[in-house]
Amino acid sequence: MNIKLIRILFFCKIKYLILFFATVLACVAFVYFKGFSFTSNAEKIDKKIIKFVKFTPTFEAMNLAMKKDIESNGNINWIKILAYLGTKYAGDFKKFKPKDILDYIKKIENKESAEKIIQNQKLYNYYLEAYSAVLDGFLGKYKTKKEQKEKYGLITFSPIAKNFFFNHYDDFGAPRSFGYKRPHLGHDIMCSVATPVIAVESGIVEALGWNRYGGWRVGLRSKNKKRYWYYAHLMKNRPFNSEIHKGDEISAGQVIGYVGRTGYSAKENVNNIDKSHLHFGLQIIFDESQKEGKNEIWVDLYAITKLLEKNKSNVLRRKETKEFFQANELEILS
Ligand SMILES: [Zn+2]
Repeated sequence: MNIKLIRILFFCKIKYLILFFATVLACVAFVYFKGFSFTSNAEKIDKKIIKFVKFTPTFEAMNLAMKKDIESNGNINWIKILAYLGTKYAGDFKKFKPKDILDYIKKIENKESAEKIIQNQKLYNYYLEAYSAVLDGFLGKYKTKKEQKEKYGLITFSPIAKNFFFNHYDDFGAPRSFGYKRPHLGHDIMCSVATPVIAVESGIVEALGWNRYGGWRVGLRSKNKKRYWYYAHLMKNRPFNSEIHKGDEISAGQVIGYVGRTGYSAKENVNNIDKSHLHFGLQIIFDESQKEGKNEIWVDLYAITKLLEKNKSNVLRRKETKEFFQANELEILS
């Protein structure tokens, strides 16, 4: 073989070798990227976002389920009890009987299989996700600063401070007409001007300022981002706790502002609400696209407000500034 031929063969091999490796690389890249995008599409399809929540558990049902959870130190999950009842009653809690909770607990204690207890798994999964979005984080471990003893119980607070009177009825969905006709997507708590308003749970101050409907208002987002607590019509001239600002992290039980009559005005700091009250709202956000616009999900807070009365924040007043602050803070452990 002459040298010329050897050279030609050598270069040909190198060329094929390069071509071979380039093809392998291209295949690996294709599988990696295409494969990745297949899974993320599949995840998107699998993970259907809940679009509608009608939160109907009554105070009586929540109270008994919560009591059983606390008594069991968290072994019997109250949200699972409520999801079970939601499934059993197809959301109609007028059918609630305490015996249904007691029977459910007996079944759990007898280690009956989930399939036997839950009749409609798909419906149960929906209620569990929906009710969890509303209620998870309500119960947890805490210590009071005084006692320093670990306890388990309700760690969310009433929106109205301890020793301040209020009354309320279920007015969720009642018609409202300022600006445009719409249903009332909150819960009105009737009380005096200057009543201290409390952060129900720990979270971030997402909105703070004037809104033409809500007047002076605060919006707090829970740490898991799923709950947006909305407090509106706060007090003219001194709506907010002077120590809180947009973006601040605040803890459950803290004083965030004061009840007033502001709102229904494009102009700031105007009292246009007849009776002083706290407009208290809870928006559930499974996906950020639901935060604003026609996909918003708001929850009826009547029964939840009654439940939260079991844990009221004790407040004291600073003489110099006349501001209220939380006394006996809880140290939340989980
Ligand atoms: Zn209202």
